[in-house]
Amino acid sequence: MNNKEYSNLLIPNVLNDTEHYELKYPKRNLSEGAAVTRFAPSPTGFVHMGSLYTSFSDIQIAHQTKGIVYLRIEDTDQKRELEDGITGIISDFDKLGITFDEGPTQGGVYGPYIQSERGEIYKAYAKKLIEEDLAYPCFCSQEDAKEDRDLQVEEKARIGYYGKYARCRKLSREEVINKINNGEKYIIRLKSPGVFENKIVLNDLIKGNIEMPENDLDIVIIKSDGLPTYHFAHAVDDHLMRTTHVIRGDEWVSSYPIHEQLFKVLGFDLPNYAHIAPITIKEGETIRKLSKRKDPEASISYYHEMGLPTEVIRLYLATVNNYDFETWYNENTNLTIDDYNFEFSKMPVGGSLFDMSKLLSIAKIYFSSLTASEVYNGLIEYTKEYDNEFYNILVNDEDYAIKVLNIERELSNPRKDIACYKDIRELNYYLFDTLFIPKEYEFMKITDYSEISKILSTYIDNYYSDEDDNETWFNKMKVLSAELGYASEVKEYKKNPDIYKGHVGDISTVLRVALTGKNKTPDLHEIMNLLGKEKIKQRFNKLI
Ligand code: GLU
Repeated sequence: MNNKEYSNLLIPNVLNDTEHYELKYPKRNLSEGAAVTRFAPSPTGFVHMGSLYTSFSDIQIAHQTKGIVYLRIEDTDQKRELEDGITGIISDFDKLGITFDEGPTQGGVYGPYIQSERGEIYKAYAKKLIEEDLAYPCFCSQEDAKEDRDLQVEEKARIGYYGKYARCRKLSREEVINKINNGEKYIIRLKSPGVFENKIVLNDLIKGNIEMPENDLDIVIIKSDGLPTYHFAHAVDDHLMRTTHVIRGDEWVSSYPIHEQLFKVLGFDLPNYAHIAPITIKEGETIRKLSKRKDPEASISYYHEMGLPTEVIRLYLATVNNYDFETWYNENTNLTIDDYNFEFSKMPVGGSLFDMSKLLSIAKIYFSSLTASEVYNGLIEYTKEYDNEFYNILVNDEDYAIKVLNIERELSNPRKDIACYKDIRELNYYLFDTLFIPKEYEFMKITDYSEISKILSTYIDNYYSDEDDNETWFNKMKVLSAELGYASEVKEYKKNPDIYKGHVGDISTVLRVALTGKNKTPDLHEIMNLLGKEKIKQRFNKLI
């Protein structure tokens, strides 16, 4: 039996050989320096902060070099797969408005982009390795494996299928043929040419050079279900999809010797590797990886529900990604993330602590940079999904809603109290009659209701006018204060506290609380102006 016949026996009914695929998926026609990256999640869950962080790097590096980024679903470990794993990942990215150039939904000539649909391709490459005596069938049972592991423990040897423990590596071709004719089940293993005592170096784009022992494990490349292992599939796919940069979590660093060897035996050029340190969280005294199971703030739905724009998440990830991004961004207010040139050498080598307050402060600055109409449009989208009552109010009088959102916005130092769309209702409800139902008024210094009534009625009857500009409005407040026995300047009051009932600030607090139910709001003149005299009167009368 020649090598070809032998490989046919081991992996029968393979339609095409590797040459066919090499021609089908030629080198990409991209300009010099263009990076081809991929985001390659396993469908074991949904998109979370950690995976977003990796995909963010994939996308930025590809696009800033005029390259390509694609989404590849790595679903060959079907035991670990979640039922809606694939659609969940795709729809999470859709919801975030994050798109890839190629992938399961957008297609592309290097597809299919779901590994379970590429079974034929992996078989062709496994067959080639068998023909070249670089792979062999393994018939070991679980009991055999356990026996060897026990032996390795006893002999204080490294655990794994290698050297003298690699039983099936020693089988003759005749023995293999007999076993197959007897119907024995098998998997395919790599016949590792490596020597553990030899060293190899990973030139990691983020972590620098890392020396590791050469791989000598005869790792599984095709499992009993006919599907490849992650190691094998990743090598074949990254080669055929012409990936130039493998950007992935640093939990894969220790697998690098296997991957380097696979590329070598398969005759593929090795891509560049960049291993990203995880986003971490502090739990008591220990620091651990942000976990999609334990930490609600790891999941994307958390941000979706609070109405945090994707752009804010991107800004946060950019800030974590390159140490000087934030300074650059603050100095170049007219530029966007996509104008910045991300560099691997500026990425953190160790884990980065997840910082929610940083994320929210980025969000507040982001919201302050939007126009009122932009906020309105985002808010409409958000409330449509999460707050029907507010949505109806907002669409009912768009002009008014935009004016509300414009309070303290067109200033050199605009308001920075909105961190997400969910905040907006709570921050502005008092400007909408149907939402303004104060249960208790928390007047601060002046609490006597006859005094409060006097202040409110004198103000609305004798002073307030919708026509007043800010200065006139404030001057009137001072005159009102003086008329009622309050100091019209705070410093005057401080000089002679005994001769006044209080000062102009106390008066405006009464007006503020009566109108809004709150003792802190944005500019009171703007609020009054928006409400207009009639509504102000109604609200005051309720109290008087
Ligand atoms: N499917 C692997 C994972 O989800 C991807 C590793 C890689 O990007 O190569 O961890």
